[in-house]
Amino acid sequence: MSTLFIADIHLGNEHPEISQRFVEFLQQQAVAAEALYILGDLFEVWIGDDAVQPEHQAAIDALKLLTDTGTPVYVMHGNRDFLLGQKFEEISGCQLISDPLLIDLHGTPTLLMHGDSLCTDDNEYMQMRSQLRSPAWQQQFLGASIEQRLQVARQYRDESRSRSKGKSLEIMDVNTNAVIEIMREYGVTQLIHGHTHRPAVHDLKVDGQSAQRIVLGDWYSQNSSLHCDEPGCRLSNLD
Ligand code: MN
Repeated sequence: MSTLFIADIHLGNEHPEISQRFVEFLQQQAVAAEALYILGDLFEVWIGDDAVQPEHQAAIDALKLLTDTGTPVYVMHGNRDFLLGQKFEEISGCQLISDPLLIDLHGTPTLLMHGDSLCTDDNEYMQMRSQLRSPAWQQQFLGASIEQRLQVARQYRDESRSRSKGKSLEIMDVNTNAVIEIMREYGVTQLIHGHTHRPAVHDLKVDGQSAQRIVLGDWYSQNSSLHCDEPGCRLSNLD
């Protein structure tokens, strides 16, 4: 049986068709898998477990059905849904996993990440990231009303969109040294991540050893998924 990986589904009310594709993917493909890993940004925005938005309900119900029938689903925080918590685990049956996470993937030690922490050339982003991930900011945010939280989330999204426009693709991609450093630290020759929406399999060397960095695409247009079993991994589009 294959282990499946997806990332950057970005479920939200702007693209209801993605939610339908996601539910179909769970029902048709994930149900036959050994496990499903969702490597961040399952949701376009998650403002707290106490404020599940109506557009997220179908996906959560489908995840619950899948996990109830025995397929484990592991969910990593992305930069948009880093507030997923224990209540989400309960209502979906999913298990939250840390970023990075080292797993044994059919015999190959493999490091899983969302990918945003590797974009170290983007100083402005890294600064914002450390602010949003701080317990103080999160406590204050979660203490605000749902209406206020939605407004703050919209503000962050608009700001990040307008900032991204002025940045080069290189600055917003992962930094090669950051990749090599973390692969060396964890002693792996295989890394799987998302976030950049640039699906590809990159060959590289880590201390003279051949290594691979597999990048999952998004679900806006790329419908990206990765299927791994004993012989190896295949990156594909759902279509
Ligand atoms: Mn992301």
